Amino acid sequence: MSQKCNANLQNHYLIIGAGPVGLGLAKVFKDRGIRYDQAEADSEVGGNWYHGVYKTAHILSCKTAMEFPEYPMPESYPDFPSQNQVCRYFIDYAHHFDLYGNIMFRKKVVQVLPVAENLWQVSFADGEEKKYTGVLICNGHHWCRRHPACAASFTGEYFHSKDYNSPEQLVNKKTLVIGAGNSACDIVCESARVGAGAFLSMRRSVWIFPKTFMGKPLGRIKLGWVPPFLEKFLIHALIRCTFGKHAQYKLDKPAHGFFDRHPTVSEELPYYLRHGRVTLKPDVLTIVDQEITFTDGTKEQFDLIVAATGFDLAFPFLPKELVRGEKGHLHLYGHATYEDYKGLYFVGWQQVRGGVGSLMGVFANVIADFIEIEEELQLPVGKLLKAIGEKCSSTHLMGARQVFRWVKSVRKKKLQRKSYLVVPGPPHRNKAIAACPVKINMEVY
Ligand SMILES: Cc1cc2nc3c(=O)[nH]c(=O)nc-3n(C[C@H](O)[C@H](O)[C@H](O)COP(=O)(O)OP(=O)(O)OC[C@H]3O[C@@H](n4cnc5c(N)ncnc54)[C@H](O)[C@@H]3O)c2cc1C
Repeated sequence: MSQKCNANLQNHYLIIGAGPVGLGLAKVFKDRGIRYDQAEADSEVGGNWYHGVYKTAHILSCKTAMEFPEYPMPESYPDFPSQNQVCRYFIDYAHHFDLYGNIMFRKKVVQVLPVAENLWQVSFADGEEKKYTGVLICNGHHWCRRHPACAASFTGEYFHSKDYNSPEQLVNKKTLVIGAGNSACDIVCESARVGAGAFLSMRRSVWIFPKTFMGKPLGRIKLGWVPPFLEKFLIHALIRCTFGKHAQYKLDKPAHGFFDRHPTVSEELPYYLRHGRVTLKPDVLTIVDQEITFTDGTKEQFDLIVAATGFDLAFPFLPKELVRGEKGHLHLYGHATYEDYKGLYFVGWQQVRGGVGSLMGVFANVIADFIEIEEELQLPVGKLLKAIGEKCSSTHLMGARQVFRWVKSVRKKKLQRKSYLVVPGPPHRNKAIAACPVKINMEVY
């Protein structure tokens, strides 16, 4: 389809965040002539890869999934580049597509409110206020730390995985990592290398996927041709061939389907479990000072707890009427917008299995389509999507293939939009919401 600009040049949008998602969107807005500013709370682009992941992190999805299709990662990069390489890549991407000129650095958004004329009033931490036609929220979903309730009673050292930067924080410490996701596995394995004891407490057993199979990154193994029943069988076989049986580690077989939770990918965890350098524990029952009792009755003293217990979705600059969802997902049409507000988009809030670059490479164009439709029809694109039978999003978990298929179908519908142009009703007016006091010192990431 044509990438020609249909956007009205009077209009002006704000992209919040210059992480990978915000950058991918900015590149498409530039290509399609959509006028925008970009506000970034930090002093450089790259988001999590600049300020938010530990120095020893390597990507989990392989580089071909992580890169933007229009700007491949350097040939010299390995299949799973490091934090440093990924960060460099996003900086180069922003230079290459000349994105820096629109970015306002150290510009934290503290309030976004719908005001008259379907505009959005944005307040920044430095006191400035500006009005925009629309706001695209790309503030990431890996910053609002979720803490386990038990942590409050621990008198030893404690931090969240978000505050883990390098192995020095683990040296010579007997550490309990709480969690069963990717950061939990990475951190407990680092503790096994440098610490005085590495323990992993899992409330529920999980499926552990390998990063590679038969010398190939898992992300490069295409199962698109396989029917769903056979896919399940193949995944089960893959886990058996790599991790083995859960019973070998005295773990229960997970009670959920392979992709009912965000997958845990680790080749190191089975290695360290097999070498006796990581010990598995069930859920924490009680904590007295530094002694932890687990639900199986065993007790251990620890120097340090690392809570790799995940993140909540958070939009501290929005009034609560505009954060509609539960349990980590938002109720949105087109995975991005509401039916009763024009000009408000949430991008990158889902946990898609795949790499951020390849996904944004296609999804950013859908957002630009939505903006053009809103400008043309002067009504919320969410209302239109609902009218043509799109379902409200009901989960934050999706597969990359599912996203690509959905994008193809929605763009096809958009091309045929002349046939469903008429959505009855008076001209649209966003409902105003009164301002509430702004907490300038709110945690942003
Ligand atoms: C250990 C680890 C490994 C990972 N591995 C992979 C992987 O292999 N593949 C993959 O695709 N993803 C991976 N991820 C997920 C990672 O979060 C994404 O790759 C990517 O960073 C998401 O981009 P984003 O732009 O949505 O969010 P972020 O990278 O979090 O960027 C959001 C930006 O918004 C800014 N911001 C936030 N609030 C405000 C505000 N109020 N005002 C102004 N600016 C604001 C922040 O400063 C930040 O720069 C991993 C994450 C972790 C923690």
